[in-house]
Amino acid sequence: MQTCSKCNASSPDNALLCVNCQSDLGLFSATAVALKRMQENPRVRSVRVTVAQDACPYCYELMQTYPKDKVPHLPHAGCSHENGCRCFYEPVLAETAIVGKVVQ
Ligand SMILES: [Zn+2]
Ligand SMILES: [Zn+2]
Ligand SMILES: [Zn+2]
Repeated sequence: MQTCSKCNASSPDNALLCVNCQSDLGLFSATAVALKRMQENPRVRSVRVTVAQDACPYCYELMQTYPKDKVPHLPHAGCSHENGCRCFYEPVLAETAIVGKVVQ
């Protein structure tokens, strides 16, 4: 399932355009917009892909932290769950990564 960031309508995983307002979901799905915002934010060091609790094995496999420029597109094309891929992006901030490494 993809959510349109412009009109909030839900479209199937394989839809290229929003079923309601015809926006390009490659650019304007909620996940695409969220990812773009993270990639443009210098404080975000990397991006973690988080899965729904009942996600399929394919999505679980891809639940990882990625460098900002190597983040896979969501929804996952190989998802086998009956409700489709419901994975989402989570920013990993630079500050978080330093915690534990600072020596006084
Ligand atoms: Zn729309
Ligand atoms: Zn899946
Ligand atoms: Zn997925």
